[in-house]
Amino acid sequence: RPKKDKLGVVLVGLGYYSTDLLAPALQLTKNCQLVGIVTGTPSKAETWKKKYNLADKNIYNYQNFDQIANNPDIDIVYVVLPPSMHREFVVRAAKAGKQVFCEKPMAPSVADCEAMIKACADNKVKLAIGYRCQHDPNTQAYQKFAKESTFGKVRMVTCGAGYFDARTTHWKQNKALGGGVMGDMGVYALQGARLATGEEPISVTAQFHTTRPDIYKEVEETATFQLEFPSGALAACHTSFGINMNYLQANCEKGWFKMEPFSSYTGNKGSSPLGPINFPLENQQARQLDEDAEALMKGTALIAPGEEGLRDIRVVEAIYKSVAAGGKMIK
Ligand code: NDP
Repeated sequence: RPKKDKLGVVLVGLGYYSTDLLAPALQLTKNCQLVGIVTGTPSKAETWKKKYNLADKNIYNYQNFDQIANNPDIDIVYVVLPPSMHREFVVRAAKAGKQVFCEKPMAPSVADCEAMIKACADNKVKLAIGYRCQHDPNTQAYQKFAKESTFGKVRMVTCGAGYFDARTTHWKQNKALGGGVMGDMGVYALQGARLATGEEPISVTAQFHTTRPDIYKEVEETATFQLEFPSGALAACHTSFGINMNYLQANCEKGWFKMEPFSSYTGNKGSSPLGPINFPLENQQARQLDEDAEALMKGTALIAPGEEGLRDIRVVEAIYKSVAAGGKMIK
């Protein structure tokens, strides 16, 4: 277990999320800090080095990344690459003996997720998935309603997560890089249903749709899926790269709770018959990073470990199976 006041983090892949959200959050954290980067783009290395005052010895590319094993400044490797690259870099980080954070979706397949969990276990390092919402007290509020059956049993969850993506040649439209809306926004809708019921689905039925077949040639633009849970609770979920939506509603035996938005970076809010659900958050990513770093320092359980990422990918795989079978229910 690392013994430092602040754990050193390297971000792997300096795209939108690293640049706009994680690096700024790492300036606010108290349990960890940005000390290095791994990038395939030399010009980004220059910019980041100046902006964040990074030491040359803490700047890596995808080829020399494994040398990170010999760098005591670095405690945590945070993988923020396209999903199909997560497995390779999580396994390499684990083999280098570093603690690992990995963005959602954990990986394109269950087999990938299992290999990532095994590599971390074999190398005695922890693996956290970047489910920032699970660190948000708003999300925790509806998880509590499910756990405590505040309004009786949850019977039906309706949940939608999507945005209009104007890009046409991004990895999100590319199958080989792990694109498709199910892994991207779909896991938010799925998490919404799983966390609002507190259960794992026992059956899934799914349909894919596209309004832009010229752009979404390889992957799905919109997915609708229906889940059935062991208690009999049902969920109807929607996710899209073509439709703006972000809401969750749970109808229970003796009441209801709802959130809109439920998975934004800021401003998640909702209500129930008990009143508003509205915990203001200063910085969601900083909170996630600090709570995960604290768990590593104290040796306590992570809020969203690799096993949690795997639970979602199991359902995502079943969704693809259902669609491939013509919308059949997969148990
Ligand atoms: P971007 O496309 O903006 O960035 C990905 C970066 O990965 C690139 O800039 C590049 O960085 C690196 N890269 C290496 N090889 C490739 C390749 N073949 N194609 C494309 N990029 C490559 O993606 P995002 O930052 O939006 O997403 C990264 C991850 O973060 C995904 O898993 C995504 O789902 C997740 N994410 C999570 C969010 C959350 O709220 N939790 C929000 C947004 C994204 P470099 O030039 O440095 O090599």
